[in-house]
Amino acid sequence: MPRKQRLCILLAAVYSASLRMDYQRRSEINRFADAVRAYIGLSGPPFDMADAIHRLDGTLVELDEVEASRRGEASVCKVGDSFEVRVGPAAETRRRFSIAHELGHLFLHMGFRVDADKWNNCREFDEMNRQGTSDEEYEAHEFAGALLMPELAFKDVANRLRNDGVYETDKIAAHFGVSVHAATTRGRWLGLFSWT
Ligand SMILES: [Zn+2]
Repeated sequence: MPRKQRLCILLAAVYSASLRMDYQRRSEINRFADAVRAYIGLSGPPFDMADAIHRLDGTLVELDEVEASRRGEASVCKVGDSFEVRVGPAAETRRRFSIAHELGHLFLHMGFRVDADKWNNCREFDEMNRQGTSDEEYEAHEFAGALLMPELAFKDVANRLRNDGVYETDKIAAHFGVSVHAATTRGRWLGLFSWT
């Protein structure tokens, strides 16, 4: 077999393995978000993220516009054995998603109440860039979507809010208290909405 063809087969194998890994990680994060929601004891949707922080014995700090432009729209940091989420002024839907995103960092990347070593090694962890493309950003975004829009509930609601075969994304978003953009992204990853 020519070298180029061998390399191409190898490339395809590695690619499909990476897709499986990606799918697996996504599934794990969704399962974990379900467990976190149950652990916190949140009722909804929409889920109250300020209440979630309160129930986790954390502190929600409201930043004004000047502070938010300096420190970033949202961030989370360890304070003693607890944590602080800082969030700037924004529409309620965006604030809800931002806080859920920071809770994703808190659990997944700082190890709060799930990984003692990680948590003990964590000093100050500020995460501000919602637009980032690192793995951590991607995972925190997936977590936020899964926490606020549980898969089964989302599919159920989306199938009920369909008019002539067209999903009413504004109503679906309102049901979960998120932006139309966040609901659309969630629906795409869950295989309900098309990507085009
Ligand atoms: Zn982040």
